[in-house]
Amino acid sequence: MAYEFPKARHPLPSAGKDELIVIAGAGGFIAGTLVSYFHDKGFARIRAVDKKPLGEWYRTTPGVENLSLDLSIEANCHRACEGAAEVYNLAADMGGMGFIETHRVDCLRSILINTHLVEAAWRAGAKRYFYASSACAYNTDLQKSPEVVPLKESDAYPAMAERGYGWEKLLSEMFCQEYWAERGLATFIARFHNVYGPYGTWDGGREKAPAAIARKVIEAKAKKTNAIDIWGDGTQTRSYMYIDDCVKGIDMITHCDALVATPINLGSSELVSVNHLVDIAEGIGGVKLERSYKLDAPKGVAGRNSDNTFIKKVLGWEPKTSFTDGLTKTYRWIETQYADRAAGKRIVE
Ligand code: NAD
Repeated sequence: MAYEFPKARHPLPSAGKDELIVIAGAGGFIAGTLVSYFHDKGFARIRAVDKKPLGEWYRTTPGVENLSLDLSIEANCHRACEGAAEVYNLAADMGGMGFIETHRVDCLRSILINTHLVEAAWRAGAKRYFYASSACAYNTDLQKSPEVVPLKESDAYPAMAERGYGWEKLLSEMFCQEYWAERGLATFIARFHNVYGPYGTWDGGREKAPAAIARKVIEAKAKKTNAIDIWGDGTQTRSYMYIDDCVKGIDMITHCDALVATPINLGSSELVSVNHLVDIAEGIGGVKLERSYKLDAPKGVAGRNSDNTFIKKVLGWEPKTSFTDGLTKTYRWIETQYADRAAGKRIVE
């Protein structure tokens, strides 16, 4: 049985186009794209915040205020939220399976970011607050077989989240819910299922499966090795959401009063096995590679998909980009990055 939180009794206010939107984690993949999305929508005052030095941000958007601040420090959260009408928290220390299974302490420490940021948003009188949660918050006992039952929102409890990263997400969700229930800050929570696309990490250990496989195919072609190594036995399944669907979903969820303090899946429901992912990437690259399976590599749960019944009911929408279309765009982008790196140019990694 999921927790129930009070519903909004009156329409909740939103940021006007001339009011300040604060986006945390903006030096990273999703928040960097969200900045550009709101900018293109006509929001004139956007403050983008990330702990990385500006030179390391994946992208910046002209006309946006960029602050380099560590949001695990409370005073920095107050600085970041000064004058904010809406706050979006996408800042976290995270990565793909290779990262979250070996950096549980780093993942857990992201609790500091949301703890201080939600408090600062409330003190600043923000109208709406968004929190980026994850499908890793779901009970892992439900995800042991590749014959996946799609996860619905109530499947987070009884709780048995992914150690480290998933528990941090679950507890941060609770902070958001209680700030609404006890203090009246309108909070919105999306549980993302694997997001991918241009400007995402594609090398270095934090990348997720779509970018990692695309890079390996590109590398095998460039180095003429004709071989690819795959983590696990290739039967693990996931759904992957294209970045454009993700930022649109964040906007829709944050501005839907019926979803206040109510975690909701934001993911594609198109299930893809790792083997099939490799087939598609090989198809895009026009090669066929010798596969070797690394059975002792981190592989996460056996299978996971997003049950989109709730989002379709509330928003009349779900992420729609087909995996083949999204991966084609992502592959082409990584290909360019790969070539730029080889030529000694600056890249996103
Ligand atoms: P990302 O790593 O590209 O971006 C996160 C950003 O947060 C980074 O730029 C990092 O420097 C910044 N950050 C970390 N600690 C910080 C701190 N103390 N202060 C300020 N900034 C800090 O990750 P992403 O893929 O863009 O993910 C964004 C959010 O979405 C995260 O909360 C993540 O957990 C969540 N999420 C992502 C996915 C996915 O597939 N990408 C899936 C589920 C949930």
